Amino acid sequence: MIDSNETCFIFDVDGTLSEPRQKVKQDHKDFFINWAKDKQCFIATGSDFIKVREQIDIDMLNCFKKIYCCMGNEVRNPDGFITRQNHFIVPDDLNLDLENFIRHSLFEYRTGRHLEIRTGMVNFSIVGRNATQEQRKEYYEWDKNIGERLKMASFINDMYPYLEASVGGSISIDIIKKGCDKGQVVHHLQGSGAEKIVFVGDKCFPGGNDYGIIRELKNTSMKFDWYNVSSPNETYKLIKENNIFSEE
Ligand SMILES: [Mg+2]
Repeated sequence: MIDSNETCFIFDVDGTLSEPRQKVKQDHKDFFINWAKDKQCFIATGSDFIKVREQIDIDMLNCFKKIYCCMGNEVRNPDGFITRQNHFIVPDDLNLDLENFIRHSLFEYRTGRHLEIRTGMVNFSIVGRNATQEQRKEYYEWDKNIGERLKMASFINDMYPYLEASVGGSISIDIIKKGCDKGQVVHHLQGSGAEKIVFVGDKCFPGGNDYGIIRELKNTSMKFDWYNVSSPNETYKLIKENNIFSEE
């Protein structure tokens, strides 16, 4: 699957190839398709494949050898064919703890859909995913002062050493099996013969959802480079101007 003499370029999606939850801009897309012709490219995103398809047209998606969705817990070919999936079943004890959080939170509203199970992970929210934009904002502001999400995440991390909870998005926390983050992508590519990896993401710092990749790259013997960008514009500028992206 991989030519080990060639670099593997991995890209995050939200905030890197496109604005969060937006489509890739036409001029960015045209440029990328042309650049990627003779490259080995991969996607590593927290989103599921449906969102990836909404944001990246098929002609650009075809530039990627593999799409690592749901933090690397689901691996797809560009045509959508699933080549690997990790399942996560919410343990009963955790379910009870999450129900208790909902019962005892001092936040005013509960709108339903508190638990969203994605491949390999669960997303939990006190206000619930049926919340209106206003209710979401209200929860976000309230939580900023109270730190409810941080407290819930550290409770879970203390009680369940085999799980990893982190604050994600604006109203929720993400829970995964320890190690089942984007770091999995590095091991999968290494297992497929990769020897050099270049990664571009917008949340490469500890606590960010790209950090798993950086952490694992630093633990391998592979050659690697990584870039933390602050916008899609910066990503495409980087590809255009940095030699590392034009090396054969
Ligand atoms: Mg991102």
